[in-house]
Amino acid sequence: MAGILSGLDKIGLGGMGSLSIYDDPEEKVREEEKNPEASAPEIKKMEEKDFLFPKSHTCPVCYAEFKTPTIRVNKLKPRGADSDLRPRFDGIDPLKYDVVMCHECGYAALGNYFEKITPPQAKLIKEGISKRYRKVPESDTFSYDQAFMRYQLALGNTVVKRGKTSEKAYLCLKMAWIMRGKREAIDAGTEDYDHDNYLGVMQEIEQTGKELLSNAIEGFVAARQNETFPMCGMDRNTIDYIIAVEAMKIENYAVASQTIDSLLARAGLSKAMKDKCKEMKTHLEHKVEL
Ligand SMILES: [Zn+2]
Repeated sequence: MAGILSGLDKIGLGGMGSLSIYDDPEEKVREEEKNPEASAPEIKKMEEKDFLFPKSHTCPVCYAEFKTPTIRVNKLKPRGADSDLRPRFDGIDPLKYDVVMCHECGYAALGNYFEKITPPQAKLIKEGISKRYRKVPESDTFSYDQAFMRYQLALGNTVVKRGKTSEKAYLCLKMAWIMRGKREAIDAGTEDYDHDNYLGVMQEIEQTGKELLSNAIEGFVAARQNETFPMCGMDRNTIDYIIAVEAMKIENYAVASQTIDSLLARAGLSKAMKDKCKEMKTHLEHKVEL
């Protein structure tokens, strides 16, 4: 788990890297106190900023007013999805802009969750985030690294505010998708990276992506037992389908097999999902024979 939040030391929140996201954070925080495909550049007619507008927000934690770059949904042209439903669009990866962040106090959350915070949670964030948070420069567009840091901050906030397990799992899933976008953008020449260390950068992306998927699966499997659907805007079939595909990707065959069997026995599964489940089941049976 160490890697997922380890970038936060740059903005004053060092030590969060050692937090386990699904544990109660209180004790560990105390301890800490003690001591192109992504953007298809070749046909890019619109620049990234053309897809964005500055949306106004009032921070529900510190009441600061601020603007954040937000996707103009009507400008998006869908270009299908990956097998795990990660959406793709021409010219921009809107996932980079899903986190809303207050630069004054360090409160951050996915757009749909930003306003939904209780007064006790706001208090936890003031104590656990704002007191140590150091301002980061604002910008009109985000690189994948900037986007990832915003997600890390959102995940750190969700741990500190004792948010729902599904919210943490959803953040981990989207962060894994951000890692995939970063890899594609590096290969497409649209994301900056350490050119002397291409292999090292790619290995780190791969490793972090797997760790995030593993955490997303763990969280969604737990949330499925204790929370109600729709979860993070998704129904049971969609969540289970994502669990199954990601579990296959990280070779967690026990979870994959169980989830695929449960999905195939269920009515109302789309044909595309059913076909993919059958394909994964064949793949799994092959693994068992070996
Ligand atoms: Zn704020």
